Amino acid sequence: MKNTVSRATFDQVMVPNYGPAAFIPVRGSGSRVWDQSGREYVDFAGGIAVNALGHCHPELVATLTEQAGKLWHVSNVFTNEPALELASLLTGLTFAERVFFCNSGAEANEAAFKLARKYAADHFSSDKHQILSCKNSFHGRTLFTVSVGGQPKYTEGFAPVPAGIDHFEFNNIDSLKAAISDKTCAVVIEPVQGEGGVLPADPAFLAAARELCDQHGALLIFDEVQTGAGRSGSLFAYMEYGVAPDILSSAKSLGGGFPIGAMLTTEKVAQSFGIGTHGSTYGGNPLACAVAKKVIEIVSSPEVLAGVRAKHARFVAGIEAINAKYPLFKEVRGMGLLLGCVLNDAYAGRAKDVLKAAEAQGLMLLVAGLSVVRLAPSLVIDDADIEEGLKRFEAALATLTA
Ligand SMILES: *Cc1c(COP(=O)(O)O)cnc(C)c1O
Repeated sequence: MKNTVSRATFDQVMVPNYGPAAFIPVRGSGSRVWDQSGREYVDFAGGIAVNALGHCHPELVATLTEQAGKLWHVSNVFTNEPALELASLLTGLTFAERVFFCNSGAEANEAAFKLARKYAADHFSSDKHQILSCKNSFHGRTLFTVSVGGQPKYTEGFAPVPAGIDHFEFNNIDSLKAAISDKTCAVVIEPVQGEGGVLPADPAFLAAARELCDQHGALLIFDEVQTGAGRSGSLFAYMEYGVAPDILSSAKSLGGGFPIGAMLTTEKVAQSFGIGTHGSTYGGNPLACAVAKKVIEIVSSPEVLAGVRAKHARFVAGIEAINAKYPLFKEVRGMGLLLGCVLNDAYAGRAKDVLKAAEAQGLMLLVAGLSVVRLAPSLVIDDADIEEGLKRFEAALATLTA
């Protein structure tokens, strides 16, 4: 069959804000993907930490098709069973007592930041509106979330940006101490900075953030859009640290590939979002919630979470063995199945070249910044797929060092 669209079509009809790979995936199964020409790839990218159960997981396909035959959408003028079931599941498994659904990570953070402002206005005063976030952090692409995010390149050209936002150094307790005050309504932290280079927080840093927030009457927000839904080896990364936030944002793996976001919070904080204060037309859509409920049921099982830890070890050992032969990386870091391979100084800035070399060997990878190669595969990737992917990774690195 002749393809009616190709990669060249992208350059003709799409807004040019992305630079996608040269091939177009058309089909996926587990951790394998096929392109238009029938070429097969091993998927270590996982749709950017989204496809928690790989491609077309049979239980997700069954759940989605069953719900598709029942009810797609009713809006929030009505509630629906999948949303209530998912919210019950999430509150049962986490610190949270209340859930707000939306459609993406940025929307979950937008809700979190608005809720923190509203909570401070309700309980203190509108003066207490400062949001503190880490340098190098990423919280989404709406104007509010890029402004809270700590990467100036994402706000360039979009001024004026929302006010009342300041930044401090990630993993630097003194920097947070110096920035926080009684004017602070919220401190937002990614337990592992994802886009910023796969940098895990120090346990002492998160514990200190919790303490400082309590001292100053500020809410602690964990952005777990990338680290949540099993990726860390616990259902949420905060559980790895034993530090609970007041608000948590989730998306990406939560839907396993079906768009959904969620903001989780406590009973008390949730009360500041009274009727009419915030909303979303699609948020809590029955299709998305039915799929996410199945994802959470599967990834919260002890077997899957233990599997994530075992696969982490397998990946790290495999990459370190490759790196002994082709020493491109100075560090392999991360948590669970969110891994960052940091290029050494001789290869600094060349993460994209590694991606291209991997593509040529039939392997899908990610970058996190210019000098970190990121892996965010399916949480249930088979050992055989890990071995085959690592073989292709080695072949790719060989071409770069040749
Ligand atoms: C991806 C990501 C977001 C944004 O999520 P979208 O679904 O793209 O809006 C926010 N925060 C973190 C930590 C992310 O990794």
